[in-house]
Amino acid sequence: MGVYVHIPFCEQKCSYCDFHSIVVGEVGVFSDLVDSYLLSLRREALYYKPLWGGRTIHSLFLGGGTPNLVPPERLAALLAFLWEELPCSGELEITIEANPHSLTPEGARVLAAAGVNRVSLGAQAFQDELLQAIGRLHRAEHISQAVHNVRRAGIKNINLDLMFGLPGQSLEQWQDTLRQALALKPTHLSCYALTLEPETPLARWVEAGFAALPGEEEQVEMYQLARGLLRAAGYEHYEISNFALPGWRCRHNLLYWRNEPFIGLGSGAAGFIGGRRYLNVPDVQGYILSWEKGSPLYEEYAELSRDEEMDETMMLGMRLLEGVDEEAFRRRFQVGFSEVYQGAIAELKAKELVEEAQGCLRVTERGLLLENRVSAAFLR
Ligand code: SF4
Repeated sequence: MGVYVHIPFCEQKCSYCDFHSIVVGEVGVFSDLVDSYLLSLRREALYYKPLWGGRTIHSLFLGGGTPNLVPPERLAALLAFLWEELPCSGELEITIEANPHSLTPEGARVLAAAGVNRVSLGAQAFQDELLQAIGRLHRAEHISQAVHNVRRAGIKNINLDLMFGLPGQSLEQWQDTLRQALALKPTHLSCYALTLEPETPLARWVEAGFAALPGEEEQVEMYQLARGLLRAAGYEHYEISNFALPGWRCRHNLLYWRNEPFIGLGSGAAGFIGGRRYLNVPDVQGYILSWEKGSPLYEEYAELSRDEEMDETMMLGMRLLEGVDEEAFRRRFQVGFSEVYQGAIAELKAKELVEEAQGCLRVTERGLLLENRVSAAFLR
């Protein structure tokens, strides 16, 4: 089981971003807001404590927003609290997402001393003009500095988030980004295609003709280029967008793809525990007020039926290249997926989108590019 903590603060809004985060204002006001927010996170963690049901927590993920905008000492105090109050495994994976330009050597040292053992850096690209085009505040040189700072603090497990399909990005630039990322020897790489989210500034610029994204074919070429280069460099392609050196897969994200329980803490955070899914209202002040009163403020809350949980397990699991294990599915639901999804599987096989191997159902090379279609087939 895992815990996700959402830290919804950013220095400015990137032009493509629709994640829940607010732009921090004046320092003194932000400091008070952070204190109230961190206190609410503690209250929320205690609220869910009776639901742990004897499970051990194997991963803790501080995501955002930009978690490293919060002073590291205060994050360290939050981690110490969670460590003390929750049934954490001695082998806990603790990840923090960070922006390359704002992770200082001192900050990295404080976080490492607090138990952080994995850092995920939002690198995105190694060309300053592309970083500027999507509204990122860092520049290429900050990425290698941040990797260096993290390593000097003693943290070996480093992920770099990279993006392709950026406005004006060429195949050569993407190749250069991949090569520069590989030269830094991270343990893990995430390669995401930019998705145009409605209501973002970038979507409006594209609509108005001020920016153009690479076409679909070019994006497929970029994806295949990443697969080829990263696999040749020894990285295992284990999830649609994720690559890891052997032994360095992200434990926390595996938990999502295997549809295992997790608690989400924070404004806008989602959780899945005791067969219930919830989504907190993405409103920082509302979140703080709700925990002053001692109760959650949900935007969505649903008790999943067994059928829904099965569907989700298949839909999420098919994102993994190893696929879904029939025996594990049977242990969980007392029925095999080949009985439940007989028709859907036959249809996907006829289209050569999925195949069976080593007791698992997994996507084929063709299915990998049409994963949305594969997942949708399991939604009853
Ligand atoms: S730093 Fe991340 S969360 Fe913040 S605006 Fe940019 S993409 Fe969104």
